[in-house]
Order: sequence, then structure tokens, then C-alpha cells
Amino acid sequence: MKLYSTLDRSVVDILPLKEGEMSIYSCGPTVYSRMHIGNIRAYVNWDVLHRALIYLGFEVKRVMNITDVGHMSSQDDFGSDFGDDKMDRQAEKEGIQPIDIANKYIDSVLDDFRALNILSPIGSIIPADLTFKNVEKYGWARATSYVDEMIQIIKKIEENGYTYETEQALYFDVTKLPDYTIFTGQKLEEKSIASREEVEVDTQKKNPADFVLWMKRVGKYKDHIMNWSSPWGEGFPGWHIECSAMGTAILGENFDIHTGGIDHVPVHHTNERAQNIGAFGHPVVKYWVHNEWLLNTDEGKLSKSKGGASSLPEILDQGFDPLDVRYLFLSINYRTRIQYSEQALQGARNARLGLNSKVLSLGTEKGSVVQAYKSRFVEYLESNLNMSAILALINELLRSSEKKADILATILDLDNVLGLNLVNLSADETSKQYILGTDSEIDRLIEERVSAKKSKDYKRADEIREELLNHGYQVVDTGDGLQLFKK
Ligand SMILES: [Zn+2]
Repeated sequence: MKLYSTLDRSVVDILPLKEGEMSIYSCGPTVYSRMHIGNIRAYVNWDVLHRALIYLGFEVKRVMNITDVGHMSSQDDFGSDFGDDKMDRQAEKEGIQPIDIANKYIDSVLDDFRALNILSPIGSIIPADLTFKNVEKYGWARATSYVDEMIQIIKKIEENGYTYETEQALYFDVTKLPDYTIFTGQKLEEKSIASREEVEVDTQKKNPADFVLWMKRVGKYKDHIMNWSSPWGEGFPGWHIECSAMGTAILGENFDIHTGGIDHVPVHHTNERAQNIGAFGHPVVKYWVHNEWLLNTDEGKLSKSKGGASSLPEILDQGFDPLDVRYLFLSINYRTRIQYSEQALQGARNARLGLNSKVLSLGTEKGSVVQAYKSRFVEYLESNLNMSAILALINELLRSSEKKADILATILDLDNVLGLNLVNLSADETSKQYILGTDSEIDRLIEERVSAKKSKDYKRADEIREELLNHGYQVVDTGDGLQLFKK
């Protein structure tokens, strides 16, 4: 398997530490609100990797954290540790305890993952009755369940001389690690300038880029709700230490792959790597892989904290299916920036429904997998998850002269990785298809559109697409003609 390694700055062979095994730590959600479409991209991309590794025969050991304490509103963009705890802020807003906020939004994450056909970290489908209560049995790790491990790893970092303490917090001293900024190649002074622009709350802090390992329940945080006792006083762990502690507690002092969004590189993963070296004397993670940004049409970053973008329920309200979102994100390589818009999602929906209807036309009899196609599928998967080649391969297979039953069996096999439910279409989905002769106005529009396309009058064809949409019907152009679905 080849993937793009952020530290190597190139596509490299992923050689597992243990033959036949692959250990993966995936940065997971901070559970203070409904999951944002920008985060969903990461989870779909890494779900495809997870499924690919299972398909390729690896025994996958995967962990995904759930951050339910200590993630400050300010940490995402600048790295300052002195914002509001996202959990506390939301708890105040909703008038309930932070732990209840966490539980509520863990359930909403599970709902979204289930709808998007994302596997649990242990590789199972997410059961309908899975809730926050038993989420850890399925491979998620809650930060508040690992505070002891966090304290242990901070102690190691302290013993190795990488820390200093102020009245407010215990810090990691970044000047003690010569290659601290290895990810970005930034000079420490440049990074410091960026962080200095915000208000320093702790005047005893030595370098602006130093970051909190343990925050004490004093000053700004004297009313922080979730606290634990520690060698540095009562308080709570820093966000970055959570991932170092949970990753090594569950996967060991060395593991293969760490996934996350590219937005984590300059601060969160830079700090996580520093902590790992501080505690264990080596980097712990063999390969860091990151998915690119999801951008909105104004070229800006889509982010939950800035508002203005959608959650999955909002997208469903627009008439989309969760699998449209899945298709959009898996059809584009994780290393490519995506311009997110309703139009882009519409394109994904058309492509997915087109694929669905072709698969439906194959009938229900399953033959045997066409090996020539399977081996090309494997080859494309192993080449840095080349999804565009895979989708082209599926279309080629559908047009091929192979037996229908064999094509169906092959697609069923490939869909273990795609997770698009291409074969197990629900009766619902198929019954939404428009049947000719139901409505003479619609019949006329269909006929007119078919002839518009035949005479290459694409402008008129697009207009009719709009008209049909106004009637509540979605046009899908397939190789075999036009299909119509109720929206
Ligand atoms: Zn993390």
C-alpha cells in the first residue's frame, strides 16, 4: 500500500511494523456540537482506508478518540491554550452539564457515521442501538476515560526534562526539541510571531509556542467544571496530550499510521509528535497521513467555529441522501482540495444514482468475481487510494461483455471498500424512480430532453433539468439514457 506521508512529503510504501497488521490512530471528534461537513470528509476518507486495509487482508487495529474535555476554542487556528473549553461553553449555552453535552453529541456522531456507512474503529457496521454508553466497546476512546494515562505520560515528559511549571499550568518547552517544527519547516520564531498576536494570559510562559500539558484549576479556569487531581494540582489535561496518551496506551509505543485533517498539522500534530518524543525518546508514529481541506466556493476554509456551513441533517433537508455525501468525498482523492457546494453534491448524487440504476439493471443473480477486474481494483487501491481510477474501472466493468451475474458479484465485492450499498439498494430508493406514463407533463418533458440531448442542445437540456426539478424530479444521465427519481 502506498500513501502520502506528510513528513516524507511524498507518496511512500506503507510497511507495517508487524507483518499482516496495521495499527491506526485517527483523530476523532470533539463532541460539543453536531458534526460539520468539513470533519465528515476526514471520516469518509479514512473509512475508505480502513476498509481498503481490511479488504487487502490486513488485521487492522484502529482507535479513534472522542475529545470530551480540554479542547479550547482558540487551539484550532493559532494554538493558544487560553480560550474557552468548547465543552463548557456549549454546556452553558444549553444549560446542562459538560458530560451530558458530550453524551448527547457522541450519539449524534454515531447517527452521522451510521448514515454515512462509516465502520466503527473495530471494523464493524455501527449497530442501530449503539449509544454513548457502550461506544468504547467499538474502538472509540473517550478522553475522560484516560486521564490517568495522560498523567502518566506527562510525568515521563517531565522526567525527561521537557517541561516547566507556572502558577497557571505545566508547559511543554518547545525549544528543548530541535526539530519541533519539522512538519511545517517553519522557523520557531515565525511560529512564535503568529502565536504572539493573541492576548497572553500566562505572563510566566517562556516561549509563545510552548503549549499546555496540564491546566490548573486557577485564574481563568477556577470554575472549570471537569477536574482531576494530579502532581501539578487539580485541573485538566491539555487537548494535545489526550491523543499521545490514548494512542500509546491502546496501540503501544510504536504504531503504523496516524490520520487526521491537514488543519491539524501545524499545531495539534506538531505538538503530539513533540510529546511522543518527549515521553518515549522516539516519534511513536511511523506514518502521518492527512486529508486536504474542504473549501467553500469563496476559497475559504469550511469550519465549524466560523459557522455558515452545514451538518448532515441540514444537507438531508436539502433533499440529499447521506450516501451522496459519501460518494462526493470518496470519489476525490484525500490529497485533493474539494470545493464544496450544493452543486458539487448534486453532481455526486447524479453519479451515484446513475451507478445505482446500472447495478439494478444487472438483476439479482450473483455469479463469481471477475478476477481481472479485482486485481486491477487492488492495484488502484494500493496506489495511494486512486479512487478516480476505481470509479472508471467500475464503469468499464459495467460496459464490458462479462456475464451480468459476474459483474454483479464483482461490484458486490468492490463495494466492501466503497461502502455505497450499491447492491443492497433499499426498496425505498428504487420505488422513488419515476415510471413513464404516470404524468403526461413529465412524460413530455422527458421526451423533449432526450431529443434536446440528441441534437446536442445542452442549454435546453439543462433548462428542462431545472423544470423537472421544480416538479420534484431529479434527472440522472446514465450511459443508457435518462433516469428520473423523485426528490
Ligand atoms: Zn488528535
